[in-house]
Amino acid sequence: MVRKRAGKLVVIRSAKRMQGLCLRLRAEGRTIGLVPTMGALHEGHLALVRRARKLADVVVVSVYVNPTQFGPQEDFDRYPRQLAKDVELCRKEGVDVVFAPRSLYAADASTWVEEVEVSRDRCGAFRPGHFRGVATVVVKLLNICQPNVAVFGLKDFQQCEVLQRVVRDLYFAVRLVLVPTVREKDGLAKSSRNSYLSVEERAKAVLFPRILREAAESGKSDEDAAAALRKAGFLVEYVTTSRGRMCAAVRVGSTRLIDNFVRRT
Ligand code: AMP
Repeated sequence: MVRKRAGKLVVIRSAKRMQGLCLRLRAEGRTIGLVPTMGALHEGHLALVRRARKLADVVVVSVYVNPTQFGPQEDFDRYPRQLAKDVELCRKEGVDVVFAPRSLYAADASTWVEEVEVSRDRCGAFRPGHFRGVATVVVKLLNICQPNVAVFGLKDFQQCEVLQRVVRDLYFAVRLVLVPTVREKDGLAKSSRNSYLSVEERAKAVLFPRILREAAESGKSDEDAAAALRKAGFLVEYVTTSRGRMCAAVRVGSTRLIDNFVRRT
């Protein structure tokens, strides 16, 4: 049996054990804050953890590279995995439980959660099936971890929009809290995928948030922002303003970067 001792981090790898622990904690009247991640933790993830600590008695960080949100040609195999290091970072941040399941899909799993409106455009158009994978895994995590609060990053703005819709439509009793994007000193949004960038690509990548921010803050059109990004040499997937945020995805070499800024109206 898994016991939760005050001040000591536990790592749980089984969904059943995790669910048992969380149901007991909730029955005891404790509140749970969940931070879902794919690991390779950085300061962006840690900002979410710090927010969760302020909002809940028990903080759970899930570390799971969810296969169903990657397309067949995407980076699932090479996505960085460093569980021992992630656990140490969580320990330093006062996390109570790291939930690192080996798998969240039975071999014959046949149940999916699909949001069909907000997830259509932007990343949804360029990554077919991505948000179905995200919605499905997050619903599994909510059912397993029973959180009162789940914390997500505004860096993945469309993901936030999709998950808000899923939680509303399916009546999940959880509050979603969204945290602003944490950036490198030069403005590039922190991301586990930044490790893919070569020195030259990293030098170029910094222009992405600079150009997008300038376009958003000066109230440029999406088309003009896309043109400015192309002029700087980016392969632009989209620039689309949604709910007051100018959102964009570009490629630098084989690495895909996304970002968004509040647009001046
Ligand atoms: P990931 O591990 O990339 O799936 O991200 C897990 C969570 O961390 C998601 O809610 C992301 O939006 C959030 N996140 C990732 N990068 C950042 C960042 N630079 N600033 C804030 N949140 C982030």
